[in-house]
Amino acid sequence: MKKRWYDYLWIASSVYFLLGFVNILFAWLGLVCFFLPLIISVAGGGKTYCNRYCGRGQLFALLGGRLGLSRKKDPPKFLRSKWFRYGFLIFFFIMFFQMLWNTWLVFEGAQGLHQVVKLLWTIKLPWQWAYHGETVAPWAVQFSFGFYSIMLTSTVLGIITMAFFKPRSWCVYCPMGTMTQLICKAKAGKSVSLARNDAENTCTIQSEQGRRGT
Ligand code: SF4
Repeated sequence: MKKRWYDYLWIASSVYFLLGFVNILFAWLGLVCFFLPLIISVAGGGKTYCNRYCGRGQLFALLGGRLGLSRKKDPPKFLRSKWFRYGFLIFFFIMFFQMLWNTWLVFEGAQGLHQVVKLLWTIKLPWQWAYHGETVAPWAVQFSFGFYSIMLTSTVLGIITMAFFKPRSWCVYCPMGTMTQLICKAKAGKSVSLARNDAENTCTIQSEQGRRGT
């Protein structure tokens, strides 16, 4: 099948993480991956972002599929259950708002700048080399560290899940996937079947790739 430009978005995802090593302010670019899936879903595009434009999903497919870094086992049932997906979404939001709160404290001057990246919400990695004392407001820098921590944590979780299960098993409980799914459901309404299964615009319980774990 002929490759399209968006089949190479895994390169953009990889570059994003590399840029975070060079200058933490590049973390702001990750907001595109945060808002774009929601905007596409709200605009009626369903899960087009997941099925076509998600570089991170492509990266897992590449590492686990072509590079063989995945055991390619079905993800366990609990991972696919509603309580886990929604529970993880709530947990994700709590962590996200905590990050915003820390940004606010720096903005207010109540707290100094923490030049660390928090991996898996607990492990503090020194990251000061990626901040060069630019003339940027400290709160903007704090947001960069916090947001990059979230992006890195979700990618590490995705890689662990990819290694143990199918390549795109992270998509089963990815908060962005759950949110776009909820938007799909809300837009489809109860009367409409959720199984709009055209390949480009899947609106099933999770992204098509995620369910298949391909
Ligand atoms: S579920 Fe998440 S990681 Fe998977 S394709 Fe969608 S946005 Fe990307």
